Amino acid sequence: MVTKNKKIFGLIGYPVKHSLSAYMHNAAFEYLGLQAHYELFEVPPPQLEDFFKNINTNNIYGLNVTIPHKESVMKFVELDFDSTHIQHIRAINTILNKNGKLIGYNTDIGGFSLDLLEKFNPQHKTVALFGAGGAARAVVYALYKLKAKEIYVYDINREKLGSLLEMMKKIDSSYPIFGVNSVSDLDIKQKDLLINATPVGMKETDPCLIDESMIHKNIFIYDLIYNPKETRLLKLAKQVKARYSNGLGMLLYQGILAFKLFTGREAPEEVMKEALWSHL
Ligand code: NAP
Repeated sequence: MVTKNKKIFGLIGYPVKHSLSAYMHNAAFEYLGLQAHYELFEVPPPQLEDFFKNINTNNIYGLNVTIPHKESVMKFVELDFDSTHIQHIRAINTILNKNGKLIGYNTDIGGFSLDLLEKFNPQHKTVALFGAGGAARAVVYALYKLKAKEIYVYDINREKLGSLLEMMKKIDSSYPIFGVNSVSDLDIKQKDLLINATPVGMKETDPCLIDESMIHKNIFIYDLIYNPKETRLLKLAKQVKARYSNGLGMLLYQGILAFKLFTGREAPEEVMKEALWSHL
C-alpha cells in the first residue's frame, strides 16, 4: 500500500478489523482519482490521547469513529454547530481535520434515516429499541426528527439509558420516550418497529434478545448490525414473515455523508455500494 503524498483518512475503533469502511472509501477515492487513502486504526482506549496528538504529523485529514470511542472523542474535537442538537447528542462518528482544527459530526443520524425511510416510514409509529449507546443516540434523534409517535428503550446499562433519556429531555421535553427495565416491558407485540442498537448478535454465540412469542408478523425489525448479514434476531423476523433489514444500508449512507464531508465531493454511491456488497 503506497500512501506517501496521499491524504490519509480512516476509522478509529477497538477492534476495527471487521470493518468494511475502507473498501467503500478507497473504491470511491480511486473512482474519482483522488490522492487519498482510507485506513483502519485499531486504537485501544488508553492510546486515544496519543493518537490525537499525532494526527497532523500522520497526515490524517478525516476520521470515522466506532466502538468504543464515539463518546470519548468528544474531548478532542469541536462540534459541528451547524448541526442542530449535536451538543446534546454527544456522539461523534465523523471528524474532519480543517487546518488542524478537528470538527466532529454525526452522519449516523442521516445514514440511519435515509436507509430506514427506503424500507419503513416511522412517522406516527410506535418503536421498541434495544440499546442506549452511541448508535442508539443517533437512532433516537433520527426517529424524533422523522416523527415517530413514541419510543420505548431497554438497555442493560442503566447509566447509558438515563443519559439517553436526559438527551431527549434537553432536545424536546415533551417527546414521549420511555426507559424500561426488561425486554418484556418493551411490550414489543404492541409496537410497529423494533430496532436493535446493541452489539448483541455480532458474535455467533450471542443469544437472541427475544423469542417468537414476543413479536408479530406486521412489525418491521431493523438490526444495526450488518456483519453477520442475518443475526439471530433477523432470522427470527424471517421465520415469522415480518419485514426486516440489517444495518448495511445505514453503513453505506453514513459513509456517503462522511465522504462528502471529507472531500467536498458528491460520493459515487453505486461504487461505494458495490464495494460494500461485494465484501460482505
Ligand atoms: P455502544 O455505544 O457500546 O452501545 C451499545 C449498548 O448496548 C451499551 O449501552 C451496552 O451496554 C448495551 N448492551 C450490551 N448488551 C446488551 C444486552 N444484552 N441487552 C441490552 N443492552 C445491551 O455501541 P454502539 O456504538 O451504540 O453500537 C451498537 C451496535 O450498532 C453495534 O453492533 C455497532 O456495530 C452497530 N452500529 C452499526 C452502524 C451501521 O452503520 N450499521 C452504525 C453504528 C453502530 P454496556 O455498555 O454496559 O455493554
